[in-house]
Amino acid sequence: MPVSSPKRAKKRAVIIGGSMSGLFSAAFLRQIGWDVDVYEKSSVPLVGRGAGITTHPELMDALEASGAGTKDLGVEVPKRFSIDRNGNITDERALRQILTSWDRLQQLLQQNVDPAHYHLGWGFERLEQNGGKVRVHFNGGRVEEADILVGGDGVRSSVRAAVAPEIQPRYAGYYIWRGAPEEKDLSPKTLKEIFPYFVFYLPPRQEVITYPIAGFNNDLRPGHRRYNFIWYRVADAAQLREMNVDENGKQHEFSVPPPLIRRDLKKKMYADARDIMPDVMLDCVMTMKQPFITPIYDFTAPRITFGRVAMVGDAAANARPHMGFGVAKAGGDAQALARALANHDDIDTALAAYNAERQPIGNIIVNHSRKLGTHMGVNLKTEEDRKMHQLMQSDGAVMDWIAVPNFLRAYGVP
Ligand SMILES: Cc1cc2nc3c(=O)[nH]c(=O)nc-3n(C[C@H](O)[C@H](O)[C@H](O)COP(=O)(O)OP(=O)(O)OC[C@H]3O[C@@H](n4cnc5c(N)ncnc54)[C@H](O)[C@@H]3O)c2cc1C
Repeated sequence: MPVSSPKRAKKRAVIIGGSMSGLFSAAFLRQIGWDVDVYEKSSVPLVGRGAGITTHPELMDALEASGAGTKDLGVEVPKRFSIDRNGNITDERALRQILTSWDRLQQLLQQNVDPAHYHLGWGFERLEQNGGKVRVHFNGGRVEEADILVGGDGVRSSVRAAVAPEIQPRYAGYYIWRGAPEEKDLSPKTLKEIFPYFVFYLPPRQEVITYPIAGFNNDLRPGHRRYNFIWYRVADAAQLREMNVDENGKQHEFSVPPPLIRRDLKKKMYADARDIMPDVMLDCVMTMKQPFITPIYDFTAPRITFGRVAMVGDAAANARPHMGFGVAKAGGDAQALARALANHDDIDTALAAYNAERQPIGNIIVNHSRKLGTHMGVNLKTEEDRKMHQLMQSDGAVMDWIAVPNFLRAYGVP
């Protein structure tokens, strides 16, 4: 396929990845007058991925600034509390929070981007950098040329693999069983006692977190919502590898697609849930339609720019999900990239400024997520890890740290 015409007055960005960071980047770069095109490898629109997303002031700011807005963003909870095996409240915190969903964010951000410049079904393959231009090759033979390439293609980024193959995500030593039972399927007791709240249940070396989110098609009406359910459990690398064998006996490298998770793993999960869960949480487990497993990985990178390539979102640095901050970070990265390009005529200087601003913030976010992960008691290497683990054994401390707003202020980040 021919290279698209480079004869443009405007500067051009090719963005890889049509999810959160790709869409934020498209919006912010357009605002500063750049031509942008987003290329997503999925050939079908991105809907129904993931589930609950905790919001943060930084996410709200990025949504407003990008033009996506925050209309009908999600469900508000008035407080969070922890419960014991009998369902009794052990501690609580008044904390109003809006809980949204990945689908709603994708919808809001997608409306913000011209469909003519959002291309489904094009997977990034490789790139060449020459004379201040990036030439981008896609599966299927398409070639595009741009002033910068934005890598927004997630934790397993192919763009990062092309420019810095040595940077690899590391398995954290634990994984999540997750799902989102429908409000209409939950028992009256579950609906009354936990559904309206952000709830924690913390058996040893495990963490169960639940909160309400919109239903399908962002349905916010009572009776039509869902309850986001996340259950952290420990498994070493060998156990994970065994769990990554699917129902048909095929070994997967990172995780098994939800419909192919082995029946014996689900059966064991249900049996363990019966042994340890308070009845209201067991109700959630038993009513989830398709529970699935997400292994937890993280990484930081010493650089997030490589010549004319700028990494954003999970592709730049990926934190464990304990703060629920990944989308806020994606928005912040995209905003900072556009700001740097607006402030500097010279693109290389701008990318250096972007790297200087956001690479350290990515490090802080990932390191903070590792601290919160010490709750699970895995890989406690330093005295600080062990102290943090001890601290995180209290229900109150977990509620003070997990998915709370403004944690970056403790690190001097405004
Ligand atoms: C269990 C869990 C809970 C979470 N909870 C929260 C939360 O409460 N709040 C929060 O803010 N965040 C949360 N996150 C994190 C959040 O989901 C991510 O940070 C966010 O999705 C990152 O967006 P992204 O666009 O950078 O990457 P992704 O969402 O991973 O998107 C990358 C896109 O790139 C595409 N792609 C990949 N390779 C190619 C290629 N070669 N060519 C073209 N396209 C490609 C993919 O198909 C995908 O659409 C959670 C994550 C997990 C695992």
